[in-house]
Amino acid sequence: MENIYNYYYWLIGFSIFFVIWERLFPLEKRPFWRREWYVDVFYIVFHSRLFGELLALLFVLVPALNLGRQFDEWVLDHDLHEVLYRNWVSGLSFWPQFGLAVLVLDLCKYLIHNTLHRVPWLWEFHKVHHSIVDLDWIGNWRFHWFEAIFYNSLLVLPVILFGFNPYALFWYGIVGTFVGHFAHANVRFRLGPLKYVFNSPEMHIWHHIHPDHGPINRNFGIVLSLWDWMFQTAYLPHRKAERLGFAAMEQFPRSLWKQMLIPVTTLFSRFRRAGKSI
Ligand SMILES: [Zn+2]
Ligand SMILES: [Zn+2]
Repeated sequence: MENIYNYYYWLIGFSIFFVIWERLFPLEKRPFWRREWYVDVFYIVFHSRLFGELLALLFVLVPALNLGRQFDEWVLDHDLHEVLYRNWVSGLSFWPQFGLAVLVLDLCKYLIHNTLHRVPWLWEFHKVHHSIVDLDWIGNWRFHWFEAIFYNSLLVLPVILFGFNPYALFWYGIVGTFVGHFAHANVRFRLGPLKYVFNSPEMHIWHHIHPDHGPINRNFGIVLSLWDWMFQTAYLPHRKAERLGFAAMEQFPRSLWKQMLIPVTTLFSRFRRAGKSI
C-alpha cells in the first residue's frame, strides 16, 4: 500500500503506458528511436531524480538559489506567519481539498506559463521546452532546471495560503504527470466535449506551433484547458500542425548540457551589451 505513494512507480507506469499507446495509435508514424530521443531520455532521468538531488545539494551550497526557503525565512523575519499560513482548506476532507488543489494550483500554473512566454528573459529559459521538434509523451520532461525552481517557488504562496494537505498535493502531482504525458503524446485521440475542461494532445500541439505556421501564445493550460477557454487564449483549428518550435530555432543547441547553458550565456551577453551601450 505504501508503494502507492511512490511517485517513481507512477512515473514508470505512465511512461510505459504512453510508449505502448503511441506505438498502437500514433498521430504521426515515427521510428521507435525518433530523432533526439536520447536528449529526452537524459531529460527524464535528469529531471525526475537526479535534478531533485542536485537541487538539494545546490540549495545547501548556494542558499540564495532556494527561493522557497528564502521566502520562508522572509515570512519568519517579518512576522507574517499568521498572515500567510491561512489554512483555508486544511479542515476539509480529501476530495474537496484535491478538487481545490487542481483548480487553484492549475490556475497559478496557467498564469506562470503565460508569464514565461511574455517576459523576454523568462522566455529564454522556457525556449528549451519549445525546442521539441517531434512532440511525444517524453517531451513533457524537456525543460530548463530554472523553470522548475521558478514554478515551485511561486507555488509556495497558494500552497501555504490554502494549507493543502500532502495527500491532495501528491495526487495533484500524479494527475499532473499523467495529463502532462497525455498532452504531449503523439496519439490519435480526441477528448470530445472534455477538451473544454482538460488539456489534450489536440490542444497542446498548437501551443508548440512554429510562428510561421500558427499564432503564438495560445493554449497555456497545464492540467486544465478550462483557463484557455475562459481567458480566450484557446486555439484549436482543424488542420495539421505543420511545424513546431520558435523563430530562429535552427541556431538553438540540441544537446541537454548546451540547452542548460544557453539561456544563461544569452542573458549574460545581452546584459554585457546593455552595460556597454550605457
Ligand atoms: Zn510554453
Ligand atoms: Zn509542452
